[in-house]
Amino acid sequence: MTQNWKDEAGRDLMSLGGRLANLERGKGSHVWDTDGGRYLDFLGGIAVNCLGHAHPVVIDAITQQAGRLIHVSNYFATPQQLELASRLKRLAGTGDEGRVFLANAGTEANETAIKLARLHGNKHGLGTILCLNGAFHGRTTGALALTPKAAYQDPFAPLMPGVKAIDPTIAALEEAFAAGDVAAIFAEPIQGEAGVVPLPEGFLVRARELATEHNALLILDEVQTGSGRTGEWFAHQHLGITPDAVTIAKSVGAGFPLGALITYGSASELFYPGTHNSTFGGNPLASAVANAVLEFIESENLLENVTARGAELREKVAALPLVASTRGAGLLIGIVLDAPVAADVAAEALTRGLVINAPAPDVIRLAPAYTIGDSEIAEFLDIFTASLDAVAAQNQENAR
Ligand SMILES: *Cc1c(COP(=O)(O)O)cnc(C)c1O
Repeated sequence: MTQNWKDEAGRDLMSLGGRLANLERGKGSHVWDTDGGRYLDFLGGIAVNCLGHAHPVVIDAITQQAGRLIHVSNYFATPQQLELASRLKRLAGTGDEGRVFLANAGTEANETAIKLARLHGNKHGLGTILCLNGAFHGRTTGALALTPKAAYQDPFAPLMPGVKAIDPTIAALEEAFAAGDVAAIFAEPIQGEAGVVPLPEGFLVRARELATEHNALLILDEVQTGSGRTGEWFAHQHLGITPDAVTIAKSVGAGFPLGALITYGSASELFYPGTHNSTFGGNPLASAVANAVLEFIESENLLENVTARGAELREKVAALPLVASTRGAGLLIGIVLDAPVAADVAAEALTRGLVINAPAPDVIRLAPAYTIGDSEIAEFLDIFTASLDAVAAQNQENAR
């Protein structure tokens, strides 16, 4: 592979990121690098490219809307934005009281949710926002304060105050609410960046009960799990609970950047004019793409494919060498290995033309397109099995 992310003098062109390969185009579940190398993309841009690459629905939405209207100030509404808000309310099941704030990414949607939590807390004299150990809510300063990982947080201390991190256990949850002062609790139904770790059975149901009892908001970060990724539009819908607010991003634009905060019930009354806004958030181009993507997922019943292909992948992968167990839901899959060699497996897979990643030392994550079928799964199993075999052989070699 050419290391053409450096300039002619060998200096890095980018300050951070982008070291594995130089990708220049994609089609369906495949991407190609600048040397013509072809890869099967089972990471999907980290749970983003839900329709794969260069999908005609996305191309048409971008090109048609680009020729009509890309941006207006937020003094004005646009039909695309109103359609998206109403569609998200319907899919999230907010009923009439729901409201939507459109942002440009997941972190931004979470920042909006943090401000929602503060508005609620300040109204009721509650100062603490709870977050969970293992959580990832983003890298901006507010979201970072809710992302309790030393490597991410420590260089940027002091962090936003009024945040308490607890273990994701029902006992810790009950203790934190018993201590009082809780304005809101933030949680991901499945902790994607931690290694596709689902919350313990009953955790979110109990969080809903306690939040209601203590007049706190239950705010779900579904940036990775939402927009159909787990086989329901939102992962919490598997549990039959209703949050006070939910954030999405990643798959909702199938690669076009956008995010959203969706509020339920009285949480929808907290923001008032002047308290928040975004120049680009909710622009008609991003909104048109999200409308087209969500409509396509719905009309093609792609959530059924997400559920079925997810189950098929988890079953087939469970039988492979080095695999201890699998977890996740739909097409957000964590493959737990019986040794901390996930980074080696991901690197080996890349050299064999498969894009996956290792969110934890012993976990491989898959987040492929909702459109995958028999041929993509067969190709994945071929390359993934060969990669596991190669790493297992290397391990034996090293042990000798
Ligand atoms: C990716 C992610 C974010 C951050 O979203 P960006 O679009 O990168 O800002 C926040 N929360 C969760 C759960 C995520 O997976």
